[in-house]
Amino acid sequence: MADVFDVIVVGGGIVGCAVVWEMTSHGYKCLLLEKNEDLVSEASSGNSGMLHTGFDAATDSLELQCIRHTFPRMFDVMKGFGLPYKQIGATMVAWTPEQAAEIPVIAEKSRIAGISSCVEVSLSELYSREPGLSKHAQGALWIPGETVVDPWLTAISLAHDARRKGAMIKTDTLVQSVCKTQSGNQLITSRGQFTGSVVINCGGLYGDVVDKLAGLQHFSIAPKKGQYAVYPQKMGHLINSSILPIPTSKGKGEIIFKTVYGNVIVGPTFEESDTRRRPVTDSGTIQRLVRLGETCVPGLRGCPIVNTYTGVRPATQTKDYHIHSIPERCWVTVGGIRSTGLSGSLGIADKVRHLVLDHHKLEPSGSKNTKLEKMNIKISPPSHALFDDVMYTVTHPITLAGTCQKLDSHL
Ligand SMILES: Cc1cc2nc3c(=O)[nH]c(=O)nc-3n(C[C@H](O)[C@H](O)[C@H](O)COP(=O)(O)OP(=O)(O)OC[C@H]3O[C@@H](n4cnc5c(N)ncnc54)[C@H](O)[C@@H]3O)c2cc1C
Repeated sequence: MADVFDVIVVGGGIVGCAVVWEMTSHGYKCLLLEKNEDLVSEASSGNSGMLHTGFDAATDSLELQCIRHTFPRMFDVMKGFGLPYKQIGATMVAWTPEQAAEIPVIAEKSRIAGISSCVEVSLSELYSREPGLSKHAQGALWIPGETVVDPWLTAISLAHDARRKGAMIKTDTLVQSVCKTQSGNQLITSRGQFTGSVVINCGGLYGDVVDKLAGLQHFSIAPKKGQYAVYPQKMGHLINSSILPIPTSKGKGEIIFKTVYGNVIVGPTFEESDTRRRPVTDSGTIQRLVRLGETCVPGLRGCPIVNTYTGVRPATQTKDYHIHSIPERCWVTVGGIRSTGLSGSLGIADKVRHLVLDHHKLEPSGSKNTKLEKMNIKISPPSHALFDDVMYTVTHPITLAGTCQKLDSHL
């Protein structure tokens, strides 16, 4: 007879990887199904790799709750796995007097959100921290906790740790339909049928499509594109922290940041997308990002970019996360994780585990193992990494530029 899993996670982006890790570590027998050949190849492979503090998240949001849970724990996880991260902080810079008037408002909002460490800094302090910035700044806010990580290594390490603790991970496996059984769901996929007591839909850009397979509709995805211009690592000395603009109603705005490997990146944009697939960059937008980078950080002038990339956010009509538990359908939906899925991942996973235990009344069939052991990772250029004896394809441009392809030439 085929295996029956406690939990089947649909989707191997950062959210699915965190959920399968959390559930497996707490003794649940888990299966993760991913439709693509590689894990982390949709929204989670086109982000900025920032672990946000939540200083600008809405105070009463599920997003802030999950970010606040994730933030301290992610450091334990990264130290335990031996992953790279840099807590370089962020500097929000106002370039006009109107923007400068926003700084105290944003500082107050962050205090209300419980992030008390954000402080307004004088222009002289700004330039002593960031001497490479253009001298036209009108005000600044220092946000000390903001951290850059390797977003691909982080997600894959969570999935791989789940795998070494007993989870089954199947890629190239599209969930095509769902049949409710007496005590769970049977998922019919492109590679066979699998039965689980509870299904967790972490389908990202297709979260609404996966919900529909179970006859559910909580939201619809309205994808939002982001484009980036990437500079070589030798430009990393030009900034010391992530340089944020004053945010708008659309989001955090276009950032000038340094990855954990030192590449300077300008982006992401926030644009409507008529496709859920990863679009190509357009040269007009990239030129605008280059001009923005050169205006704010004059030392970038004359330095050719070495790469461009795009990402697509699984946005919905509302800004907050959609986490819904439907015990009668043996189903949990985790969707619309638009802009902070990496920063909220462990909080989301913890919330899901509590829903499965308290709401679905499902106890783990195995025993708990929350030990964090160092990852044995060998990068295999140009685009692979070996974790123990399992080969994964590197899908994130930040990881590729930083570890596999030391890009230093003109495009
Ligand atoms: C431009 C940009 C910048 C960002 N910057 C940051 C940042 O700095 N920090 C941060 O915290 N967050 C950031 N984010 C947000 C973050 O990347 C997302 O919140 C996160 O990637 C969402 O992850 P996910 O697992 O929900 O979705 P995804 O990564 O899309 O994963 C969902 C997976 O489900 C699979 N799937 C779907 N349907 C099926 C099916 N039927 N069968 C099997 N598998 C299926 C898909 O193939 C996919 O792999 C950014 C996002 C973008 C686009």
